[in-house]
Amino acid sequence: MRLKSLEIHGFKSFADKTKLEFHEGVTGIVGPNGCGKSNIVDSMRWVLGETSAKALRGGEMADVIFNGTDRRSPLGMAEVTLTLADCAGVLDTEYDEVSLGRRVFRDGKSDYLINKQPCRLKDIHNLLMDTGIGRSSYSIMEQGKIDMLLSSKPEDRRAVFEEAAGITKYKTQKKEALRKLDYTEANLVRIRDVIAENERQIRSLSRQASKAKRYQSLFDDVRTLELHLSHKKWRELRAEKSGLTTSIRNLRLQQDELEDAIEKRQAEMASARVEYQEIENRLSHLQAQLARFENEIGSANNRIEFNGERSHEHAL
Ligand code: ATP
Ligand code: MG
Repeated sequence: MRLKSLEIHGFKSFADKTKLEFHEGVTGIVGPNGCGKSNIVDSMRWVLGETSAKALRGGEMADVIFNGTDRRSPLGMAEVTLTLADCAGVLDTEYDEVSLGRRVFRDGKSDYLINKQPCRLKDIHNLLMDTGIGRSSYSIMEQGKIDMLLSSKPEDRRAVFEEAAGITKYKTQKKEALRKLDYTEANLVRIRDVIAENERQIRSLSRQASKAKRYQSLFDDVRTLELHLSHKKWRELRAEKSGLTTSIRNLRLQQDELEDAIEKRQAEMASARVEYQEIENRLSHLQAQLARFENEIGSANNRIEFNGERSHEHAL
């Protein structure tokens, strides 16, 4: 596997799109101080996933975007594409040529690409692990780094040798596994808490549920009893109603009979009144006759008395 080309656009001092081809053999880049040689190394480190702006000799990540000069205005995006050749068998890919890309915008939005397909930074790390290529591996030695390596702490040197020996991958996997284990353990604790809380809730809910069941069964009983009571009342009222209907019918019959009797009596009364009138008339007629007779008797008596007196006088 070898470095085939590097395409830089908008990265640090590379305002124009610049493509560097690395042919078989040694390729050297020479230039005066400040012409941008280290920027090329920075761009490689960056495209391989460097996340520290300090390691790229900047204050923040947006500092890698071309910032403008006296004669050129700044750009809004930096993009670097690094192409590796003869990769099959070395990298975990079926492609012989692999291009790794990264771009960043001023608003902070950024993308990683493998063969122009968007991917995660982790995918780039996984692809390059144990190859010696990477943001912190030994294949990129910038200005002053060799000196630092020789005089660095044994642990730092060990990291370089481990990467060269190809065990970084397993160490990283172990670290990742341990991290996951820790995470799982923390999750387990949380889940135990959740289970305990849920059990508490279940107990309280089951208490509530049995109360609700009891309420439901009592409610059903009340309904059944109410139904029975209503039915009983209805039957009683129905019997009462039929009794009252019979009484009403009987009373109506009695009423009819009484009305008939009243009518009969009234007719009898009317004829009795007529009879009474007739008797009264006859009575007053007879009384008038009697008065007349009494008158006649009176005057006859007077005459008899007069004649009696006269005959007595004559007799004397
Ligand atoms: P030396 O030989 O001294 O190590 P060099 O060739 O490595 O120099 P670099 O450090 O790569 O030079 O480049 C530095 C130049 O890059 C400076 O002139 C600086 O202004 C320019 N530069 C850095 N960042 C940006 C940026 N974001 N926009 C524009 N120019 C930049
Ligand atoms: Mg330099």
